Amino acid sequence: MLDPGLAAALLSPPGLGVLGLLIGSFLNVVVHRLPAMMWRAWWKDSVEFQLADPLAWQPLFGSQSRPPPQLALAAKAIDAELKKLPQETLLHPRSRCPQCGHVLRWWENIPVFSWLVLLRGRCSACGTRIAWRYPAVELVTGGLFAAAAASFGAQPSTLLWCLAIALLLTMALIDLDTTLLPDSLTLPLIGVGLGGALAGVTGVTPAESAAGALAGYGVLWLVGFVWRLARKVDAMAEGDMKMLAGIGALLGWQALPSALLLAAGLGAVVGLVMIAGLGRDRSKPIPFGPYLALGGLCSIFFGPALRSVWLL
Ligand SMILES: [Zn+2]
Repeated sequence: MLDPGLAAALLSPPGLGVLGLLIGSFLNVVVHRLPAMMWRAWWKDSVEFQLADPLAWQPLFGSQSRPPPQLALAAKAIDAELKKLPQETLLHPRSRCPQCGHVLRWWENIPVFSWLVLLRGRCSACGTRIAWRYPAVELVTGGLFAAAAASFGAQPSTLLWCLAIALLLTMALIDLDTTLLPDSLTLPLIGVGLGGALAGVTGVTPAESAAGALAGYGVLWLVGFVWRLARKVDAMAEGDMKMLAGIGALLGWQALPSALLLAAGLGAVVGLVMIAGLGRDRSKPIPFGPYLALGGLCSIFFGPALRSVWLL
């Protein structure tokens, strides 16, 4: 067992702040690699199970029909290209400069410090600028982990809030970059919420957590349904519904009105500024995940205060 004094130090705001910096560094890798891994899996499935497969073809085109031979050729060509790609998981290989392929040494990988002091925002091998978003993500993760330690105390259950924060940040960034919200992030958040409620460490009962998951999914499904009837476009993606289900599972159904109002309000303001001020194309979808994440994060830290405003 861990010495109680050491455990308290690790779970204190400075301890979790340092852990947050390290986790933030890992989140940068996840945000970069997870979408690529998803696309790779999508192409692989298409080639292996669908593209030239009579079982996928015949239910739609008739039991006597055969997939055109070009499809088999295309599947073969895609397969050959896929085999050329280097194998990549979240942990392997080590981080590289996307420009020149230089493998980062340990001292180039220290959160925030390497970027700010040692590298001054540039790759040590080729001099290409490294985006400020990398250290910013590390700083924000570290700051939020430290805030969680300050809000929820130096106890093991605070790690559950840190996990939820890390999941929300990762979803926000991946949605921002790709407009994807991976099931591999949204579903675990639902699990963390339900598990936390069952363990009695999140301040909501299992029933409130389950109701939050259902209501979170349902309310965005309903918005999407009404919007489709009225405007004939898909306004809501299923990923958004699962993400709000996760927030509802974590914080209970009571937190949903304020989290959703915050997300929608912020989304509307930023959307209008981008369309009016920056000339953004109105027909382009605006990812909702980053705003849901902000609504969720505010509710984690200021839930009771936000609810009292809403109930006035
Ligand atoms: Zn480089």
